[in-house]
Amino acid sequence: MTTVARSRIEDEQIALYSDPDTCPTDALKPAPLEEEAAFVAWQQDIPRGYLRLLPEELDRRIGIARAKLGERLTILGHHYQRDEVIQYADYTGDSFKLARHAADQKGIEYVVFCGVHFMAESADILTPEDVRVVLPNMAAGCSMADMAAPDDVYEAWDSLHEVLGDDSGVIPITYMNSAASLKAFVGEHGGLVCTSSNADKAYEWAFARGKKILFFPDQHLGRNTGWDMGIPLDRMVLWNWRVPNGGLTAEQLERAQVILWQGHCSTHQRFTVDQIEKARREYPDVQVIVHPECRWETVQAADFNGSTEKILKTINAAPAGSTWAVGTEINLVNRIAQENPDKKVFCLDPVVCPCSTMYRIHPAYVCWVLEGLAEGHVVNEIRVDAETRKWALVALERMLNL
Ligand code: SF4
Repeated sequence: MTTVARSRIEDEQIALYSDPDTCPTDALKPAPLEEEAAFVAWQQDIPRGYLRLLPEELDRRIGIARAKLGERLTILGHHYQRDEVIQYADYTGDSFKLARHAADQKGIEYVVFCGVHFMAESADILTPEDVRVVLPNMAAGCSMADMAAPDDVYEAWDSLHEVLGDDSGVIPITYMNSAASLKAFVGEHGGLVCTSSNADKAYEWAFARGKKILFFPDQHLGRNTGWDMGIPLDRMVLWNWRVPNGGLTAEQLERAQVILWQGHCSTHQRFTVDQIEKARREYPDVQVIVHPECRWETVQAADFNGSTEKILKTINAAPAGSTWAVGTEINLVNRIAQENPDKKVFCLDPVVCPCSTMYRIHPAYVCWVLEGLAEGHVVNEIRVDAETRKWALVALERMLNL
């Protein structure tokens, strides 16, 4: 790997992005990749020539590469991608919608996934084996997915069975935001995958087959889903993967209906009850809608909660003149606001940052991988091995059949 020497401007950018009290949300405008030094540092093997390309030049070159690839290519874009990337997507959606779309693909050779690593893995699992899936920047991961390391989950599973016995009736559910190996694990152990669009149905599926759920990696989605189904908070215990037996007693585990992994989304955990109260003081007619990856008390204080697709549909269908405070990723909130000029739509957190890992996809990376594909050269391919694929597909298909 080549080491890129940093300039003074790049040092200033890194300092800006590293400061926990400020966020350059206002600076979310198209710029050459070299001006996003903190992100360039993650995938240094992109040829240097791409770093300085201006937005217009990137747009021109992406257009040429796409025209060469024609119908052999589809580009998928997650809602949290920035506008200058989402404009190239043939299809946009949340992880559930994109997973379905990937599964429906026929006759294509390449999927370029503008999202994060676990989504590209799912696309590889759900598409025919000869379809090649590409992630424009391999450093676009998900900090929540990283909180469930496969070895920690396997150890937790063994510990649970030591405490509860082999007929414990624990059904594992993994949120879509997890490694392919964990999707395979739940597939092999009688469980399934879920997204924020169908977590309630996944719980119903699991309780029809077992007595308890082990839910990972997002404690908040797991808790909010359980609460909506009438499970009291004290029957949903938190498994701290850093300590033996998750820090729980045998009695707590026996009593629990849901065992929640101690993971969270750094972007959604920032939304608070105080922010909701402030929005209600400033706009008495405001309606608050948040993502279920937010904390339980935040979701309780909101008027509505739901997946990014539900947030989008709810605000799009709302009457003109209505006011919405939204608790989800800033790129999506800004896009909803632009698409609904007859409504007031704003983000609950005034200094909210974009999802930093989603933001690692820059048009320069898209240009780089597309030009490679147009020349028959596949860079940044995401490939899930056959055994993992087999069991992960079982878990994903259980979800798609809900
Ligand atoms: S918004 Fe949160 S859960 Fe989604 S990709 Fe970013 S870190 Fe992961």
